[in-house]
Amino acid sequence: MRKKVSVIGAGMVGGTCAHLLTEGGHYDVVLLDVIEGLAEGKALDIAQSLPVIGSDARLKGTSTYDDVAGSDIVVITSGVARRPGMSREDLVLTNMNVVKSVCESVARVAPDCIIIMVTNPLDAMVQLALRVTRFLRQRIIGQSGVLDSARLKAFIAAELNVSVLSVSAQILGGHGNTMVALPRLCTVGGVPLTELLPKSRIDDLVTRAVNGGAEIVSLLKTGSAYYAPAAAAVRMVEAIALDRKEVLPCAVMLQGEYRIDDTVVGVPVKLGAAGVEAIIELDLTDDELAALQRSAQAVRETVSVMGM
Ligand code: NAD
Repeated sequence: MRKKVSVIGAGMVGGTCAHLLTEGGHYDVVLLDVIEGLAEGKALDIAQSLPVIGSDARLKGTSTYDDVAGSDIVVITSGVARRPGMSREDLVLTNMNVVKSVCESVARVAPDCIIIMVTNPLDAMVQLALRVTRFLRQRIIGQSGVLDSARLKAFIAAELNVSVLSVSAQILGGHGNTMVALPRLCTVGGVPLTELLPKSRIDDLVTRAVNGGAEIVSLLKTGSAYYAPAAAAVRMVEAIALDRKEVLPCAVMLQGEYRIDDTVVGVPVKLGAAGVEAIIELDLTDDELAALQRSAQAVRETVSVMGM
């Protein structure tokens, strides 16, 4: 039987997620938005593309949670996006109310689902969702590191003129300015990146990746990135829906791992049918570990703005 995947928020990220999820024809997809007609309109448009590409996916646009009932996976993208000059943290008070009400509804109609959070500020929203739904930490996972690492991989591949498939790179930590790139562990065709590029050039690429979201916001002027974020969220859906047991950097609640307690930050996890099936503890240097812990502290500060 096909997995049922619901996407909450039919804006730029949510609509693109729904589009990507229907392409393979493997899922029953529901797209929901509070704006009457928005999700229905996008769903009709996407559904009419499916005969062209030969996909038998089923897709429904809606503004009622009855249609979300029984979902296996729910991707939450509802909330406002950044505009030029804003940090992700600036969104916290607005998106807190949206995510709280969405999570209450999702937990009511789909109590067994796995949630993939996309709404920013990402780590704080995962923490809020855990509080509201009371789901186990294995079942609420934030999309951050798949995107941040993809940005770094794209820049490395372009710099060295190699396929993106040959590049391995990881960005951990909170999905904000304190995210932690690990150039020491980047490889290209198995060769350490540190042997292929001078440190100054690696630093430039890392800085561009860390500021990758802001670069796009300043170019778009009216919203934030959505093609790559949606692709990243869908990659996580696939890892869970297909029980891939894929190791991906994701935002999860840490309870002692990396000497971080009760805080959501991005670390490598094994994603499979049960959600987070393992948290991978990399052997970090003292500096890397300290950077990850500083990033966790920044997340705690954003969470405290919500009064949690
Ligand atoms: P958008 O404005 O295009 O879409 C947001 C949608 O949410 C709108 O259609 C709006 O009507 C809907 N919405 C608002 N309140 C709702 C509610 N209570 N229930 C259902 N729907 C509701 O924004 P976007 O570009 O799609 O971005 C969405 C969110 O994703 C933002 O918070 C953005 O910062 C975040 N984002 C995160 C990442 C990441 O890597 N984690 C990347 C890009 C964007």
